[in-house]
Amino acid sequence: MDNEKIRINNEWVSVNAIRELLKIATHGDYTKSTYDVALELGGELYPELLSEENSLLRKERQSTTAKEFIQRAKLKSIQAEKEIFPVDLIAEEIIDIQSLIALESEKRRNDQLNLRLKKLIKAKDELGKTKHTENQLIFRDAYNVNRKLPVLFKGQSSLDYELPNSNNLRIRVLHPDKPEHITGADLVYEYHHKESEKVSLVFIQYKIWENKKMYLSDPRLVKQLDRLRKTTCDKGLCECKTENKGFRFPFCSSFLRPTDALQSVNQNLISTGEHIPICVLDKLKNTGSRGGEYIDYKGIKEHSISGLLFEELFNRGKIGSKSFTYSELEEYYKSLELIESGGSVIIYAQELN
Ligand SMILES: [Zn+2]
Repeated sequence: MDNEKIRINNEWVSVNAIRELLKIATHGDYTKSTYDVALELGGELYPELLSEENSLLRKERQSTTAKEFIQRAKLKSIQAEKEIFPVDLIAEEIIDIQSLIALESEKRRNDQLNLRLKKLIKAKDELGKTKHTENQLIFRDAYNVNRKLPVLFKGQSSLDYELPNSNNLRIRVLHPDKPEHITGADLVYEYHHKESEKVSLVFIQYKIWENKKMYLSDPRLVKQLDRLRKTTCDKGLCECKTENKGFRFPFCSSFLRPTDALQSVNQNLISTGEHIPICVLDKLKNTGSRGGEYIDYKGIKEHSISGLLFEELFNRGKIGSKSFTYSELEEYYKSLELIESGGSVIIYAQELN
């Protein structure tokens, strides 16, 4: 893969993890879990990868007019030796054109100006939105969250949000030093039940596959899957005998989520969303003609859970880990090896109701 394609797919795999976080946190609200919203939240969580300035995927989704004004504002800022915002430059030109158009009642004679005006208004919307979304469109920032919780890792900083259902969401991110070193993304989602002080959680590992086929021999993948297995299955998270009240799926707490590679930035953002329980991964392997082990879409489909089902099943407590008490969770986290990025962008979310 060339550098641009690697960069695109590093962004892409991370955006998929963030989008799933949004789906779970909003209980599948389509308007709040689009790729655009995921890209914006990604810009806050991991600016080196997903900010407006750095993200190739986000740049591609901007109109040419918006791009033009971003470039202008950048240079104007240098010229004026102070920060000048693209939205303000657009607003100035809008006023200018509106005042000119007002001089001529025959609309047809100003068709080009009207066209320009339309583009400007759209671009202003585009850029104005991202300026405010951070707090408003996604979730509101939450300020008074100081509950002490067991944590998987501390990370440099954590961001707190208030969800539409007024639960709080705390997000921490761990990532490799350089965006080009990304080899995948992990989402760890904890749901805390306030009254019972119990927690259930799930680990999901996102990996790019091409043509719906993933070779399991890649040493980095072997290492990451191994780490995931050691963290969950081997720790007994998937076995549960004590609380078989009502119907639910097996307790496997970690899933591999193959993510379709993007070939270019302007490709439609879409991916198959199959989640394969790590516990059964070994049984789904095929062996290629040269002895390489792989999984493919056909082979996993019967055992995997689609993206659509995943959110609902987790939110209803039908999949994911058994529930932990806080002290059990504390003990479990202490028993784990130190969590390191290991090439993965790890997005760690704790939802508190
Ligand atoms: Zn398992």
